[in-house]
Amino acid sequence: MSDITLGIIGSGQLGSLLCQAAKKLNVKTVVISDDEQGPAQNFSNEFIYSKYDNESKIVEFIDKVNFVTFEFENIPLEILKKIDLKKKVLPKPEINKIIQNRKLEKTFVNDLGIKTTDWAFIKQARDIQKNKNLLPGILKSNTLGYDGHGQFVLNSLGDIKKDWCFTADYILEKKVDLKKEISVIITRFTSGETFAYEPIENLHKDQILKHSKIPANINKDIYEKSQNNAKLIADKLDYVGTMCVEYFIDQDDNLLVNEIAPRVHNSGHLTISAFNISQFENHVRAVCGFKFEKTQKNFNAEMINILGKEIEEYRSKTFEKGEFFFDYGKKTIKEKRKMGHLTILKK
Ligand code: ADP
Ligand code: MG
Repeated sequence: MSDITLGIIGSGQLGSLLCQAAKKLNVKTVVISDDEQGPAQNFSNEFIYSKYDNESKIVEFIDKVNFVTFEFENIPLEILKKIDLKKKVLPKPEINKIIQNRKLEKTFVNDLGIKTTDWAFIKQARDIQKNKNLLPGILKSNTLGYDGHGQFVLNSLGDIKKDWCFTADYILEKKVDLKKEISVIITRFTSGETFAYEPIENLHKDQILKHSKIPANINKDIYEKSQNNAKLIADKLDYVGTMCVEYFIDQDDNLLVNEIAPRVHNSGHLTISAFNISQFENHVRAVCGFKFEKTQKNFNAEMINILGKEIEEYRSKTFEKGEFFFDYGKKTIKEKRKMGHLTILKK
């Protein structure tokens, strides 16, 4: 039995799957979350329900754990930094400062010589007019975006609504004629060693991930470049834990970084059933200071995200050998909410 207790901020499906991976390693978990019904409480050793700015609850959380990690990146930076003064937060909070902010994120990636979509920082409607070469484009809120929230498609300048008051900052990205989307999940350990899972091919519907598969149908150059970029990014960030680099591949086979997720990622759910060590287990290993264990693929696989009411049908279904149904146990069904996933192992 290890004596390590890992604190996890956030109690959704990613937190649940981290708790399950920790259990396998005999690492205890304490989850803190502002969602009273968060499903991770069904898998953690302890659950603290609290707003993230509640000082006394944060102190209680800090006192119970050895290391802290998180399942989502939009936790206020000051809170992560405060926790980090007492117990190590991994990946380190400064990384979130970059990744929470699309402008800083893209600048960081471009400065490494890695291509992203063409983009511009937008503070007011006039900035869109100045960058009309980026249309048709997508206006994205500079911070706090997920699953397509805070995104607006702009086909022409006529789509700018008169009543938009630009109280937040945005970036405008050129719309890419997508051939494919892929992601690379990579874990970096305290020793600096990294393990990149093979690229995963992803299909989004209405900006939400719907389907993932390995192997990705891509050429060798893209395969290698996507992994090398991910390694460079992880090294430069001095990252510890699992992260994901989401990529676009355009019709001319240009590989463009879409965004970085400083955490375990939905596209990597298939690693639970397809690899000897999942992205979740590697994350727990890395942030708890365990050494890297050889990670290898046992099966090819596909993953289907189960959204909203689709879960009802899956709950009454019988599954074939090699099919693994994960029900996140969320109490309320909401349209487009991630309710579960199905992994299908392939030869
Ligand atoms: P989120 O932070 O909500 O995950 P993303 O920027 O990853 O937002 O966008 C979600 C999805 O929307 C992408 O995976 C892709 O399918 C589509 N998308 C976003 N930006 C672009 C773009 N510039 N060109 C084409 N498709 C895009
Ligand atoms: Mg995304």
